[in-house]
Parts: sequence; C-alpha cells; structure tokens
Amino acid sequence: MSELSFAELGLDSAVLDAVTAVGYETPSPIQAQAIPALLAGNHLLGVAQTGTGKTAAFALPLLSRIDASVSEPQILVLAPTRELAIQVAEAFTTYASKFSRFHVLPIYGGQDFYPQLKALKRGAQVIVGTPGRLLDHLRRGTLKLDSLKALVLDEADEMLRMGFIDDVEAILAKTPENCQRALFSATMPPQIKKVAQTYLRNATEVKIESETRTVERISQFVLPVYAERKLDALTRILEVEPFDASIIFVRTKAETTLLAEKLSARGHAVAPLNGDLNQRQREQTVEDLKRGKKDIIVATDVAARGLDVPRITHVINYDVPYDTEAYIHRVGRTGRAGREGKAILLVTPRERSWLRTLERATNSPMEAYELPSPTDLKKMREQQFEAQLLGFAEDRKLAKSMALLDEIAERNDMDMAMVAGALACWMEASQPGSMPLEQPEALPVVSATPPRRDRKGGGGRPGDGRKGGKPGFKPGFKKGPKGRGGPGGPGPKGKPPGKGGKPVGKRPARQADAKR
Ligand code: ADP
Ligand code: MG
Repeated sequence: MSELSFAELGLDSAVLDAVTAVGYETPSPIQAQAIPALLAGNHLLGVAQTGTGKTAAFALPLLSRIDASVSEPQILVLAPTRELAIQVAEAFTTYASKFSRFHVLPIYGGQDFYPQLKALKRGAQVIVGTPGRLLDHLRRGTLKLDSLKALVLDEADEMLRMGFIDDVEAILAKTPENCQRALFSATMPPQIKKVAQTYLRNATEVKIESETRTVERISQFVLPVYAERKLDALTRILEVEPFDASIIFVRTKAETTLLAEKLSARGHAVAPLNGDLNQRQREQTVEDLKRGKKDIIVATDVAARGLDVPRITHVINYDVPYDTEAYIHRVGRTGRAGREGKAILLVTPRERSWLRTLERATNSPMEAYELPSPTDLKKMREQQFEAQLLGFAEDRKLAKSMALLDEIAERNDMDMAMVAGALACWMEASQPGSMPLEQPEALPVVSATPPRRDRKGGGGRPGDGRKGGKPGFKPGFKKGPKGRGGPGGPGPKGKPPGKGGKPVGKRPARQADAKR
C-alpha cells in the first residue's frame, strides 16, 4: 500500500467521508496513482490485476467531479458482465453514501427493458452497464449522454474476450468528444492497445507491475488425483481445511449443479453458480455467500468472473482451468482486500503438464497438497468428536439425561461406558459416517510427474486408481517447501509418506472453529 493517505489525494469531502466510513486505511498503488490524475481531468490507462482496487481508483475521483444536484448520467461505466456491473454499481453506492441525492443504475441484458426505462426516466448520475444493452438504449434514445462527463471501460480485456469490442467502440463513438475517459484492464492485448490509442488523449498511464501480485498472497497447492477419485479428494479437503467460505471451479454448468448436490448431501451449505440460473438466482446466491447463509459455491469461470466476496478463503480448482488467465482469475477470488488465501488444484495424471504451465504463469511454485493419512484423519475425527461431546457437557438437559441413563444401566447391569458406547453406535446407525469408528480409506497416491517409461511395471493404467502404489505411480511427489510428505495416504504397500510430518493436534482445534 502506498505512503499517501486518502485525505491527501484531494477527493471531495463527502467522498472522503464515505471512504473513511468503509474503513479503507490507505489507497492501493493503483488508487494512489490514478486518483490524482482523474481528479485533474486527465484521460487514464490503468493496467493492474484483479483485486488491486480498480473500482475505487476510478469511482472516487469521478464521483468527486460530478454535480450531484444534476440527475442526468454524468458517469458511464462499461463492464463485461451483469455481476460486475452490479458490483461496480454497489461500490458507487457505497462511495456516494454521503451524497444527499444520488442514484446509480446498473443496466444489463437479460433484464426487462421496462424497469430500466423507468429508472432511466427517474434519473441517475451514474450508469454502469454491459455493452450490448447500453447500446440498445443509446440506439432507442432512451439513454442520453449529453451531460456525460466521464466514461470508464472496466475490465477491457474481458470485454474483448467476450466479444463485446465492437459494441464498446460503437458506444465510445456515441459519447461526447470532450468527455473524460479511462480504460482499465488486467492485460494489454493489441486490440485493447488500439482502443486506448484511438479513444484516449494524452492519457496518464498507470501500470502496476507484477502480474503475479494477486497470486502472491495466495498459497497455491496441487493435489494429483485419479479422475474418479476427485470427489473423494474434495470431500476430504473440505473436511480438513479450516475455510470460511470456499469457491469450487468446474468446467461445465451441469457439473456445478451435480457437484453442489453431492456436497449438499454431505452436509455442506452449498449452491451452484452458473449462467443458466436467472439473474435473481445468481444475485441471491452471491448474497447468500456474502451473508454466510452458504459457505460453498460451485461455479463456472464465466459465472464467477470478478466475484468479490472477502470471506472466500479457499479456491478449489476441481477441474483444471481452460487457460492460465482463467486460473489467475479463479485464484483471485480469494485473497481479496489484502487478505490471505489458499488455492488448491486437483490434477489428474493426464493433466499434470498444467503444473509447470501454471507455475510459470504465476511465477510462483505450487506446493504439494497433503491430505492427512487415514490414521491422522481418524485421530482428527476423534478429537473433533470429543470436542463436540464436551460441548454438551454443560447442556441444560444433562442432569435429566444422566438420571435416565443411570436407571437404564442399573436395570440392565451395564456400566456407563457400555451405555455411552451403545449411544455412539446408535448415532452412527442413524447418521452413517457421523462417528469416528472406522479407519478412513486411503486415497491412492498419484505422482505429480509422469511415470518413467523405462521402468518395468511402470505402465499402471491411468485411472487405475484403486491400485495406488504401483511402481509407475509411486509417491514420487516433489516435496513442498515446508517439507511435507506426499499427498494422500500410503498405497497398500507404500510407506506412509510424510508420516508425522504435520502437527495433527492443531487441526481439530481449527476445525472446531471453522464454520460448517
Ligand atoms: P479490482 O477491480 O482491481 O479487481 P476491486 O475494485 O474489486 O478490485 O477491489 C477489490 C477489493 O478491495 C474490494 O473488496 C474493495 O472493497 C477492496 N478495496 C479497494 N480499495 C481498498 C483500499 N484502499 N483498502 C482496502 N480495501 C480496498
Ligand atoms: Mg474490477
């Protein structure tokens, strides 16, 4: 973060009050550089990764320059998706909270025209919209930009990727000549450069280096696993990771629903997020995650683009991403607002080449993710059971319950341990898996590196998951910097990798704290 304070940047006092109320301490680097330039009325080209605070970088100075008593569109922001449009609109509402009269209007496709028309008639100082629908309104004359003072292209590279670039240019051509313009993008592909050259004049360029910035605060792990054991691996990760909220990425819309159903059946508060859900449902899902009504979202890349929910502590890449950019966007859903985050990638033997590609793209190493061994897991479950049991030791009904069980014990000549044991078995019978009575099964170990061809017997069929420990798939996993052992438990004949490598005692305590 920068040395400057928000107060030194020259923002309008109402805007500054709002920023103070939100609790931001210092401007982020892009804010420190972009805010003075935009306050001075300059055009601006801002290049920085997601999560660097770009929204406030343009919203704060532009809000400082509008005339809040005029209720015509003075700021227009183009965003690639409805979710981002809504998110940016919400940010404007926050930053303008001390204005006495202020309206921001998100406008996006998929929503009825009528409410948008009504809202436009009512008047809004700021419009945030997706290009297609904005263009519709401009062509119909229902959106007028005569009073426009500033135009922002947010996530320009994303708009290009989504095929909106023609619409964007058409809108640019319809905005007043003298209006201030800013373009923000995480990357600078040639077409975006061209847009910048065509539509920005003497622009101040702010480039926040280190494309890996977002990734720096995020520890990245990889767990090689056979395709058919991915669900087991995920279930276990969710059991042992002390997450607050988590987002799980899959490749298809159908899979978001399927996987969410499976996790829900396992007792998680989970919802799918995909492009097939209607707008209402998607907003509701994000809201539920923010509020803690849901702890897990299973999403596709597109649906989760730009999602900003600070309580997301974990990103789990259940399916590998389509490209490195998608990966960076995905893991950027955690580590928001300067917090730490953890990203875990599942790779099947066929997908192992991804590892090095991603390490190169993020310029940071992937650590081997270690699942606890069955023995450790059992111990963990026992400790957790014990903690839960102790939680009932002061229950209001304890005395009554004890009296009842005393009677039963006496009548049947049982000792108390036997009574308690029978109760535990009863719990297990009514809720299978609820008691740490069985040793959990070991997940077969998969090597992170391809099997060596020259080794005899190394041709273990990929996907032959149940036979972990075959020579070709022996735990040859590179150790992470913390010197942890291999992932998963030992194969049937393999030596337990990393046995005792992890302080087992710590986990259940954190686990007990974690929201379930
Ligand atoms: P970007 O558009 O670069 O991806 P956002 O504008 O969505 O980033 O901001 C990411 C998060 O950082 C948001 O939760 C936002 O509230 C928070 N944030 C922005 N500026 C600051 C700041 N100066 N201090 C603390 N948090 C900030
Ligand atoms: Mg943004």
